[in-house]
Amino acid sequence: MRWTAARRSHVVLGMTLGLMVVGAAPASGYVTESATAPPIDCVEPHGDAPAAARGGIEAHPEGFDEVSPAEALQIERDRLERLDRRGAKGKAAADVTIPVHFHVVTADDGTGDVSDAQIADQIAVLNNTFGGGESGDAADTGFSFELASTERIANRGWFRSGSTSMMRKTHVGTKAELNIWTVDFGYLGIAQFPWTKSLATDGIRVKWTTLPGGSQTNFNDGETATHEVGHWLGLYHTFQGGCKDPGDFVSDTPAQASPTSGCPVGRDSCPAEGLDPIHNYMDYSFDSCYTQFTAGQSTRMDESWLAYRG
Ligand SMILES: [Zn+2]
Repeated sequence: MRWTAARRSHVVLGMTLGLMVVGAAPASGYVTESATAPPIDCVEPHGDAPAAARGGIEAHPEGFDEVSPAEALQIERDRLERLDRRGAKGKAAADVTIPVHFHVVTADDGTGDVSDAQIADQIAVLNNTFGGGESGDAADTGFSFELASTERIANRGWFRSGSTSMMRKTHVGTKAELNIWTVDFGYLGIAQFPWTKSLATDGIRVKWTTLPGGSQTNFNDGETATHEVGHWLGLYHTFQGGCKDPGDFVSDTPAQASPTSGCPVGRDSCPAEGLDPIHNYMDYSFDSCYTQFTAGQSTRMDESWLAYRG
């Protein structure tokens, strides 16, 4: 039922977008979240996309959109076309349990060797946040996560760079399985969107200090992974596109001019109705401020799963 309603509304949106898209560029593949250090030279994944800060730790003058408005419109048109094709084949979104493959990359001296307990806690955080467990008005997205494998790799270069070469050599499974690499690069996290074709680099990379109990001040409740998995399932930032429509292509996340830093209750950065969604996992607020995905985001993740991963 949710599928039917969502599909109907998006067919209309797709028609609108079809008129708006003219020769847009192909999609860039990654979303990056900066941590304390500037990007390391050997991190090569951000492609055309400027790095953006989560939580205002590091601001970049080139702006905060990983995906340009023109790219986003092209992506949306392709996504809706795929969704219609899959829907026509009788596939429907349903509750999904995602197998998770953890790749713990460490320095030669063992730095970065997160414990099995932390990994279990990280999986629990994913299940709680995607299950709507942090607030009464959070959506239960229907996605859950189960640890399928843990690999530990001592490689100083990979630990510091989190490179795509590391991913290519260690990725396991299909696009319906989540690979998580923990590394020590200059970002909080990087995700690959579902519409990016490369299987060998599919998944998320997070700074090892962001896992539950880690040392990343204000970002150590494991919710960087929640944010990155949101991208992996097709969500943009709530501030995507700034105050302009169609923003993040989700109707129940009010428009937002720029990323949030900290937890400024009452922030309202756009003229359109609604306060900034500072508690949304797809903003850049502190982990302690995060409490929800919306129903609209849940629908978009269902659709993206169906279109690209299911
Ligand atoms: Zn992000």
